[in-house]
Amino acid sequence: MTDLDVRSTLWHGVGEPVTVQRLDGPVPLPAGGVLVAIEAATVCGSDLHTALGHRPGPAPSVLGHEQVGHVVALGPGAPAPTVTGAPVAVGDRVVWSVAASCGTCDRCASGLPQKCRALRKYGHEESTPDWPLNGGFATHCVLLPGTGIAVVPDTMPATVAAPAACATATVAAALDAVDRPLAGTRVLVTGAGMLGITAVAMAAAAGATVTVSDPNAQRRARAVCFGADRAVSPGDPVGTVDVAIELSGYADAVETAVDALDVGGTAVLVGAVSSSRPVSLDPERIVRGLLRIVGVHNYAPQHLATAVAFLAETDLPFADLVEPAVGLDGVAHAVVTPPSSGYLRRAIVPTATPTP
Ligand SMILES: [Zn+2]
Ligand SMILES: [Zn+2]
Repeated sequence: MTDLDVRSTLWHGVGEPVTVQRLDGPVPLPAGGVLVAIEAATVCGSDLHTALGHRPGPAPSVLGHEQVGHVVALGPGAPAPTVTGAPVAVGDRVVWSVAASCGTCDRCASGLPQKCRALRKYGHEESTPDWPLNGGFATHCVLLPGTGIAVVPDTMPATVAAPAACATATVAAALDAVDRPLAGTRVLVTGAGMLGITAVAMAAAAGATVTVSDPNAQRRARAVCFGADRAVSPGDPVGTVDVAIELSGYADAVETAVDALDVGGTAVLVGAVSSSRPVSLDPERIVRGLLRIVGVHNYAPQHLATAVAFLAETDLPFADLVEPAVGLDGVAHAVVTPPSSGYLRRAIVPTATPTP
């Protein structure tokens, strides 16, 4: 594979420039590895957190972990399985999980591959000579064995497919953690960013009555367009619910989520991925109310399959959530600048014309 035009961005640390480098020579492909030509990537909020220094990130690294592309080469040995069990093939249009897991450690064996003891994460690791293409903001990415790979239909717009790899699959994991059918339940979603809008849409599609809470009026209005029955500001009464999905990460919202639960209710905490003030819990209420509080971080391959199936079915305007794309030279700006008003993601298309 020496005839490929392979370029990747390199993030060199907080406040440092993001460069674009060309990789000459063959791309190292491990046994069971997969080389994907990236069609489009989207910039997740956690890319912004890394680039802005809100959380530690190794450098230099290729950021980006929400992307879609076509398989162009396979490493030696048996081809990797997709999430349906069928082997991946050259030409498949695929999205892939945020991490690769070993499949043999105690956590993998106990059904928690997302917490594998030897986890490798896309867009979060140093770019090294043996795995230089390990993130989404590049023309190509090398998928390691143990990655969840899902085939996406050609009809799905690339900017709809890309967020499946993080936002949509994480929401699928959150709803799976509820551990009961959502039809007929009352669901509260706190936070109406990309994950919140997706949670509203998935819960409504499953037959739940959904209340969304967000301080931003534009986001509240959009949540209603995506299926919320009611949209409130934080601090407004939310009523009593069976399920609360907390995606904002704010301690106040965590307390709102737990306080809103009816007997037998479940609160799924997803947003709190950085330190916050401790929250207060009333243990008696948890005991007498038979309440469940569950944490969700990352997801397992079956959640990627659920995400792709949902996006393939929905006719909601997910493409409208993504700002028009820029090329690799636009990554430097995109990873430190939140999307423009009205959008929830920026898009990177490696073949896009350089910005003047
Ligand atoms: Zn992400
Ligand atoms: Zn493992």
